[in-house]
Amino acid sequence: MIKLLCNARLADGRTVDVRVADGFIESVRASVVEQADPADPADPAEVEVEDLSGWLLLPAMAEPHAHLDKALTAEEVPNPQGDLRGAINAWVTAAAAGVFTYESTVERAAAAMELLLVHGVTAVRTHVNVLSTNGTTSLRAVKEAALRFDGMLDVQTVALTSSPMTGADAKENRAALDAAVEEGVDLVGGCPHLDPDGAGLIRHALAVASDAGIGVDLHVDEMLDPSILTLRDYARQVIDTGFTGPVAAGHCVTLGMQPPSVQLEVASLVAEAGIAVFPLPQTNLFLQGRDNATATPRGLTAVAALQEAGALVAAGADNVQDPFNLVGRSDPLETAALMVMAGHQLPDTAFDMVSNNVRKAIGLPEVHIRPGDPADLVAIDAPSVRAAIADAPMSRRVFRRGVLVASADQQSEIHGRGRNGS
Ligand SMILES: [Zn+2]
Repeated sequence: MIKLLCNARLADGRTVDVRVADGFIESVRASVVEQADPADPADPAEVEVEDLSGWLLLPAMAEPHAHLDKALTAEEVPNPQGDLRGAINAWVTAAAAGVFTYESTVERAAAAMELLLVHGVTAVRTHVNVLSTNGTTSLRAVKEAALRFDGMLDVQTVALTSSPMTGADAKENRAALDAAVEEGVDLVGGCPHLDPDGAGLIRHALAVASDAGIGVDLHVDEMLDPSILTLRDYARQVIDTGFTGPVAAGHCVTLGMQPPSVQLEVASLVAEAGIAVFPLPQTNLFLQGRDNATATPRGLTAVAALQEAGALVAAGADNVQDPFNLVGRSDPLETAALMVMAGHQLPDTAFDMVSNNVRKAIGLPEVHIRPGDPADLVAIDAPSVRAAIADAPMSRRVFRRGVLVASADQQSEIHGRGRNGS
């Protein structure tokens, strides 16, 4: 099957026709409307043509850190306290009360996946609660939801463990992780900053992942207390053990609370360890800093130091409309906008952080709209990357391996005339 995406505007301003064969980009040529000779006799009749009408064509976006088992529960699980502890307590209480069923988790996860897909996301990594109380129920529910999007949306799962994962009381939580690994997950998760022995949790996570031949993706230092810096332990252990699987760290808030010299020292270790770091501005801005009435910190990690050290930084949305984040649109362009506003990134860099940097971090081939790249693309009715981030228009076409998998159209109209209009 050959597909021609014609009249596509690239980020550099060129208008091109992108020819896709067997899911990969075969050629990128100046659009026929700009060519002296518009005829292309080589095109067979069976070429399927999609006219993008000058819309901006970009690499499809990807979400590196979601919680699809929790998504869309803001009404069912209120968090009036508004901080991380309040969110965790609200969730645990609701779960113990039987608020969530397997079926409802499947439906919510599927709804969240659909939202991601229609916004232009073709790959998502989601953490899934793996607790002694729910076993593998949430994990199986998310995997069942993912089946509905097979071939459209890549879904990676991370076993998000409950603390303690170390000490005498860790037995049940460790057993829950073992059951999840047995069931099948892509990565081992966990929260070392919430554990009595953060370094011990990291050691255990790396050992379990190493035995299973999978990766590690931890929630790291999601707090403002600068005396907690498990990211350093994580990086050192990855280096010292020679762990070869994929490694990632979400949040890393306390790195942003360190003096510049410590930020650079730890960022260099992170780069050496090959740990991808995911700032998660939505939840960081929502949950962090509520006790700081003056000069309220943003709760973002030290993005500039990580970039300077050469670490891979990609950005995610984390929670969407649940007790950990009451709002959120499942749109990486919202994340990119926050990386511009709160993370002080240039728009093009911010877009890379929600597209190719994520793909690199989660083990997918990058897309640069050149021959040989997978045709995982999103077309947006916007004149530039900056404008796409600013307006986030909902006129989009989403292609997965060249196949149109989602579309949305936004319409607006001004009715009537102003008083001085004619
Ligand atoms: Zn998270």
